[in-house]
Amino acid sequence: MVAAVHAMKSRREHKRFVWQALLIAAPVLILSAIALYSLRLDKASIEQQAREDARVTAQTLARDLARDINEALLDAFNPGSGEKLQASQKIYYGLVAGDQVLFPGDYPRVPVPPEWPSQLSTQQRQLWQAAEDALFQKHDRAACAKTLADIRAGALPEPVAANVELDLLLFDAGRNGGSDASRRLLNLARRYREIETAAGTPLADLALVEALRHSNPESLPDVLSEAWGRLTCYPSFLSTELLAAAEKAQPDFSLHRNKWRRDEEVRDLLRELMRQSRVLPSTGEIWFQKDRQWFLVLCAPGFVRTTQLALFPAEWLGRVLEESLDATPIAIPPYARVRFQIGLRGWQIKDYGEAQDVEPLASASGALNIAWKTRVPQAAVRDHLLKFDPAVLRAAQGSMQSSDLNRDVPIYETIKNPFTVSLVLVDPDSLYARYRQRLWLMAGFIVAAAAAAGIGLAGAWRALQRQLRLAEMTSNFVSSVSHELRAPLASVRLMAESLDQGRAQEIEKQKAYFRLIVQECRRLSSLVENVLDFSRIREGRKTYESEPVDLVELLRNTVELMAPAAAERKVSLDLEEPDAGRDESQPCWDGQAVQQALINLIDNAVKHSPAGATVKIRCESAEKQIRIMVEDQGPGIPEEYRERIFEPFYRRGSELRRETKGIGIGLSIVKHVAEAHGGRAFVEGVPGQGSRFVIELPGAEHGSKQ
Ligand code: ADP
Repeated sequence: MVAAVHAMKSRREHKRFVWQALLIAAPVLILSAIALYSLRLDKASIEQQAREDARVTAQTLARDLARDINEALLDAFNPGSGEKLQASQKIYYGLVAGDQVLFPGDYPRVPVPPEWPSQLSTQQRQLWQAAEDALFQKHDRAACAKTLADIRAGALPEPVAANVELDLLLFDAGRNGGSDASRRLLNLARRYREIETAAGTPLADLALVEALRHSNPESLPDVLSEAWGRLTCYPSFLSTELLAAAEKAQPDFSLHRNKWRRDEEVRDLLRELMRQSRVLPSTGEIWFQKDRQWFLVLCAPGFVRTTQLALFPAEWLGRVLEESLDATPIAIPPYARVRFQIGLRGWQIKDYGEAQDVEPLASASGALNIAWKTRVPQAAVRDHLLKFDPAVLRAAQGSMQSSDLNRDVPIYETIKNPFTVSLVLVDPDSLYARYRQRLWLMAGFIVAAAAAAGIGLAGAWRALQRQLRLAEMTSNFVSSVSHELRAPLASVRLMAESLDQGRAQEIEKQKAYFRLIVQECRRLSSLVENVLDFSRIREGRKTYESEPVDLVELLRNTVELMAPAAAERKVSLDLEEPDAGRDESQPCWDGQAVQQALINLIDNAVKHSPAGATVKIRCESAEKQIRIMVEDQGPGIPEEYRERIFEPFYRRGSELRRETKGIGIGLSIVKHVAEAHGGRAFVEGVPGQGSRFVIELPGAEHGSKQ
């Protein structure tokens, strides 16, 4: 019944606690949610602002960068000194048609034998052979000249006549030398610009090298002019030799070497480009890599069906961008970097590395605008175009009539190519620094509030538990007290009724009844005394009267007092008296209180001892302390309960089974008495089995009064 009522009360209290907890936690939770939400808004607005700023900056940058790059491009493509481009100038121009490079014209690196010798008939071959034999074996110039006339008359292919003619000229030059040879060789070179020897060597180049050797001041300018035209319009593997011969004949000619080198560089680049991407777009950009260097190629439709190319190294572009960014008055925020993207490639200006793949804050686009005029040798374009597409020649014919190798056609080109400038977020820490500060502050507040709420809740929970335990203990106490009172009262009443109604006739029996009644009454008064003491202690009304106490007398008296109760449980009490002469001084204690404490200890020891056991009561003084010890042979007390048993109402074992008698306040009174005297009470285990309760009190001069 008591348990059921207690359980109900406990449920009610728990429910109330849950509500209390909710009331404490709810504001903390709501405030935290509001704080976090407002922080999120805060972050979003920082981001929004950054994007807005970035948009304006990107637009201005796109405009400024476009202006600066276009100026740099204009300078690079229109150096002002016409054809005399510097070798260091790394911006290139090219003209392609389909997969063929038209300008600067390409050539095979090694001689490729032409087809014409294999197309000759046996008779034609014999005629050609005869001319060669006449010249080189018989050294008969006249016979050779006659065979040459036959060749011409027989309408043999032009290359045969040209080769025999060259042979004749070389033969003459070897024999006579002289100015005439130089001019005749020059004329031969002019007539047969595209003819090769049977081994694949350009005939005109051979003739010019020889013409240079035999040149005289009168013929030299024309020979050099033709040689320069060959280098530009008909480059070949003999070109370097021709260049060397020209330089030898006229040292000033070395000025052209730079141009030649530059053409070679462009040829190398274009070869690599065509190898990597066979089909070039007619408009747009291509990135390609050569010798670990990136090049940007901008393509635009050229005249007729050609495609014009502007090539420049990424490094050059990067440098221009960097200089432009350095010169701009626009401040780039510390958290952002400028990314420049053109076609498939992009990079961060300044860092000059590949662009990180991060979403930009804002982007704006600009355009590369290249407008330049270049001069392309018309003979080269005409001849190459003819091979490439005869229809093209017809379209271009009007402007390509001259046979002068050094006549150029001006080509005006514009290329417009878009690029993108973005501001990317590279250092979010710096952008969100203020937000992060607030976040930490807020997190600190939230944690502090949660901790305070948690501490409050834990306190409330502990208080609830204490309250419930106290309630349970109090109700146990009440039932224990009534139980402890009921049994002795019933037996006293029974014995008194027996005596009254004369049911116990024998004197011995009557004496025994009387003894028992006295014993029960003593136990009852001890119980009541304990309860009253306890109530006084709780209310703070308990006082102790100190006076000199005869310790031996006190021990003896108490043991005597407890002897009947011990005997009843067949337990013997063994008092080990202190040596009479050892300590004559009498401690100043409240004798009655100390005796009451000792009674409680002996009573407990007897209660927990098995029948036939002995309870030892001893006393020893050490270092101005007197220790009274009660040692039993009971079950002992596990370590973890040795503190708790001194708490009021605490009883070990199940309350329902009530294995031992008692009301759970004896030891708390013992503790209070000991502490009130400035001492302490504790229990320790006895080796083997049982426990030893100790009251440690101050000796003679340390007695206290409360
Ligand atoms: P009680 O009236 O129950 O004896 P006490 O305060 O005197 O109350 O003791 C508290 C608890 O300590 C007891 O319920 C018992 O479990 C334990 N106890 C006390 N003395 C001994 C002892 N000598 N041996 C074993 N257990 C003991």
